[in-house]
Amino acid sequence: MDLRSLIRDVPDFPKPGIIFKDITTLTKDPEGLRAAVDAMAERYADANVDLVVGIESRGFIFGAAVAYRMGIGFVPARKPGKLPAQTVNAEYELEYGTDAIEIHRDAIGEGQRILIVDDLLATGGTAAATAKLVSGLGGEIVAIAFLIDLTFLKGRAKLAGYEVFSLIEYDSE
Ligand code: AMP
Repeated sequence: MDLRSLIRDVPDFPKPGIIFKDITTLTKDPEGLRAAVDAMAERYADANVDLVVGIESRGFIFGAAVAYRMGIGFVPARKPGKLPAQTVNAEYELEYGTDAIEIHRDAIGEGQRILIVDDLLATGGTAAATAKLVSGLGGEIVAIAFLIDLTFLKGRAKLAGYEVFSLIEYDSE
């Protein structure tokens, strides 16, 4: 299955100079959606994963489906102020300014084995902050899985020490 052909490049979104990788052209394709979810789920099928943590918001689409496919639970990592109960919070750097991500404090127990899922690895800041929260709650990170890795942005460098997996790589814009 050629997943790459299902990703649409949208130039200058959300701002000039960015080529946005639009995954909605993949998710609307039944075979594409299934192939992407199955590939992630099968890779970690024997890794004794307890929970998938999906990163807002496109990580929810793949993460929840992967968790369902693996027969395990799903935990959302959300933008600040969205989760109703007690949270832990990690800030990370953006090109201009900072952003933050939160997880419910009681979502992950000591020693639980976690697969983190997002749609796309760019600079790695979002995934690194999520990994920090998961570790801080006592979770063991089995891997961080992405549909897409923009390898030219070297996001894996921020995730050193973790297994990083991606289904599609772009080595230039
Ligand atoms: P980063 O923290 O830099 O790795 O950014 C990752 C997050 O930003 C992911 O959740 C992506 O959904 C989003 N993102 C960053 N760059 C792009 C891009 N070129 N196309 C689509 N999504 C992007």
